[in-house]
Amino acid sequence: TYVVTDACIRCKYMDCVEVCPVDCFYEGENMLVINPSECIDCGVCEPECPAEAILPDTESGLEKWLELNNTFSAQWPNV
Ligand code: SF4
Repeated sequence: TYVVTDACIRCKYMDCVEVCPVDCFYEGENMLVINPSECIDCGVCEPECPAEAILPDTESGLEKWLELNNTFSAQWPNV
């Protein structure tokens, strides 16, 4: 899965949302998040993010952000 990180905070460009083929972005408290169980790992969103906030979860140190994406996407509306 891909993970949205803190560079997204206060960014709110929606380019990633528009390109996602499975519509798995959700509104968080102050940033967007990806639902890890819906993301098909296509990678299309990563280069679209002007804040470079979207990273593959294969990168190290993203455990906290993966957890936050998982939690927020279950609580907040789809965008
Ligand atoms: Fe959507 Fe693909 Fe990005 Fe996953 S990697 S959030 S499926 S655009």
